[in-house]
Amino acid sequence: MSDIIQLLPDHVANQIAAGEVVQRPASVVKELLENAIDAGATNIKLLLKDAGKTLIQVIDNGKGMSTTDARLCFERHATSKIRSAQDLFNLHTKGFRGEALASIAAIAHVELKTKTEEDELGNHIKIEGSKIGSQDFAATPTGTSIAVKNLFYNIPARRNFLKSDAVETRHIIDEFQRVALAHPEISFLLHHNGNEVYHLQSDNLRKRIVSIFGAKMNEKLVPIDEQTDILSMVGFVTKHEYSKKKRGEQFFFVNDRFIKSAYLNHAVVAAFDGLLEQGSHPSYFLYLTVPTKSIDINIHPTKTEIKFDNEKDLYAIIRATIKHSLGQYNVAPVLDFNR
Ligand code: ADP
Ligand code: MG
Repeated sequence: MSDIIQLLPDHVANQIAAGEVVQRPASVVKELLENAIDAGATNIKLLLKDAGKTLIQVIDNGKGMSTTDARLCFERHATSKIRSAQDLFNLHTKGFRGEALASIAAIAHVELKTKTEEDELGNHIKIEGSKIGSQDFAATPTGTSIAVKNLFYNIPARRNFLKSDAVETRHIIDEFQRVALAHPEISFLLHHNGNEVYHLQSDNLRKRIVSIFGAKMNEKLVPIDEQTDILSMVGFVTKHEYSKKKRGEQFFFVNDRFIKSAYLNHAVVAAFDGLLEQGSHPSYFLYLTVPTKSIDINIHPTKTEIKFDNEKDLYAIIRATIKHSLGQYNVAPVLDFNR
């Protein structure tokens, strides 16, 4: 029998990877915002048209890319963020897989403008279906702008599967809020169809939460602050009397990355003990910092689930700390606006 195995062409491999990485416009938003943060941006703009179906553009004032990098960033497994497998256990960036831009460029019309501080002129690249259409020098500010147009233009099944604009916008806002909460020190702007949705100034955490969820949130927040050998935890939980019938605003960040964990969520709820009414949920904004070598982030392409070495210990600390803080608040309610 003759040989029948072939290596897939890059554009096919990219499209397959895109199937995992890019579920919907919100996935693109997440990847682009995270790249902007990894580039050290202090100011990030997100512009949308038609719930991201027509346009998703992220403009940052980060470090930009050189002429060669501007082309290389669209290659699969091309990354500036890790060099070896060990680096996976010492991650200080959101990205490391080097496949987001390659995936996005396989399934959309993408336009990149980028310039580094040193360069006089920047680069302007157009790419679609993994093919670079043009690369020119262009006058552009230091930083990067990536416009993703007509997502899934070449995958009708995916395009047709997208939900209504309202639903897709909701998913985008969720991603935007997660990133904005993870980085209160960064300014964010969000425009949708020309209308301003969010304009968030660089702020402390309490003010960032309030500017996203409204002034009423301020009085509901109980500060949490605990440092132990295996974990530091800061943030807020809402007082039990403000718990919600529908699931509230629940955010866990681990080393500045939003994560989902039913187990850790349970630790928070358990801390409220008998305080919660049946079927009601507290809101929380909890920021955990753990040693990078004690977690594995590389267990899912979207990186919202992570594996902890010592999940049971974290559970115990989270539960005890929140319980203690709630108890303190009940004895001596404080409103500390500086935290
Ligand atoms: P990853 O983020 O996992 O490295 P991506 O495909 O998202 O992979 O990006 C590839 C590379 O392109 C990054 O490692 C980075 O060097 C560069 N890059 C992407 N976005 C930006 C940006 N906004 N500013 C500067 N460099 C960027
Ligand atoms: Mg990335």
